Amino acid sequence: MKAIQFEGTVPRYVYSTVAGSIIRNAYYDRFSNIVMRDVRPPELPTPEWVRVKTKYAGFCGSDKNLILLHDSPSTSPYASFPFTIGHENCGYVVEMGAVAAERLAHPGAAGAAHAGTAASDIGIDTGIGIGIGARVLVDPLLSCVPRGISPVCPSCARGDYSLCTNFTEGSVSPGMSIGTCRDTGGGWSSEFVAHYSQLIAVPENVSSEDAVLVDAFCSSLHPVMRNFPADDSTVLIIGCGVIGLSAVAAIRALGGKARIVVLAKHEFQGEAATRLGADAVVYMGNSTDYYAELADVLKTKLLKPMLGKRVVVGGAHTVFDCVGSSTSIDDALRFTMPHGTMVLVGLAAFPKGVDWTPIWLKEVQVRGSFWCSTEQFEGRAMRTYEIAVELLRTGRLSLSPLLTHKFRLEDYRQAIAANLNIDSSRLIKSVFEFD
Ligand SMILES: [Zn+2]
Ligand SMILES: [Zn+2]
Repeated sequence: MKAIQFEGTVPRYVYSTVAGSIIRNAYYDRFSNIVMRDVRPPELPTPEWVRVKTKYAGFCGSDKNLILLHDSPSTSPYASFPFTIGHENCGYVVEMGAVAAERLAHPGAAGAAHAGTAASDIGIDTGIGIGIGARVLVDPLLSCVPRGISPVCPSCARGDYSLCTNFTEGSVSPGMSIGTCRDTGGGWSSEFVAHYSQLIAVPENVSSEDAVLVDAFCSSLHPVMRNFPADDSTVLIIGCGVIGLSAVAAIRALGGKARIVVLAKHEFQGEAATRLGADAVVYMGNSTDYYAELADVLKTKLLKPMLGKRVVVGGAHTVFDCVGSSTSIDDALRFTMPHGTMVLVGLAAFPKGVDWTPIWLKEVQVRGSFWCSTEQFEGRAMRTYEIAVELLRTGRLSLSPLLTHKFRLEDYRQAIAANLNIDSSRLIKSVFEFD
């Protein structure tokens, strides 16, 4: 089968970083780390795993970072090369290992007979009833339970799977998720494998187009639920890509009534934010004074220092930085009100020129957020993915309007170009579609 892989070799890395500064194609041409090749479908690592036939696989902002080699080297130990890209997915179960079939049919029954902690022991038995042919989405995190590690680490025991400390141990090679591990395959090919505990059944009334967007949505649902804005507060969301838009959608789907202000780059993004429930949109074009506009919308004052950017007196109660660039982090800190919270959702690496003054001057709380895990929802602990599916099932959320582009796998270079040039492609979210 064909797969788009990340090769991960130093010569290709050097080629792309040098040539890429002149021509962007150098990040994904034939000398780069992004290669399309014929591979054998991955084996089931243990009888606890299943094989999934891909229907849709998402193109994530983190995949863009991977292609542009923006990731900090501190994340490279959490991957094994070469790996098939793609962690956002929706597909069909086509093969089940014996233990996987048993555990999904009888939760907990086979617990003692096999190595590892049963998913039901730590409350992640979301795939009960799934059999061959079932439509599923796979929570891609390769934490303790998928890795067959028992007892699980303290993070996994709490349900914070994205903070697992065993991403490099256990029955499969290093990798935080499917799509960064050489043994599992990934969504950017027609088949991949998943541990039974990673499966979530897609309800009949939820489309596959909605399901494939769950992962991106959860990257925002998780920080929104952990920092839920009060109804009488103001929220500023910086960045209106799929993550910023999902943050707007998450607040509204959960019934939040806070005033939402978004800072967007493109008009099509601002329009989408308004449709999802944002109250005000400020654009950060080259010719606009977005600081003045934001201050106006947030009903605060700007002060002019002797040198440099203006100082913001007040700001929003909660700021979600959904970009993670030097500019967005600096803006986010400045526009957080005294004692407010700045949540870093974007995947920042080495920001330059960020002024830390607002953190102490306004006693701002800075919070990190990574991927998704378990949240309290309607009186019980549920996986972030499960909550998203429940919001879709009950009609409180619709994600498919954010899906603007579908590509065939063979056209991956076109898909990359469209993701790198959103001002002309007007792309919000793209996926690869399989038969
Ligand atoms: Zn993603
Ligand atoms: Zn763990």
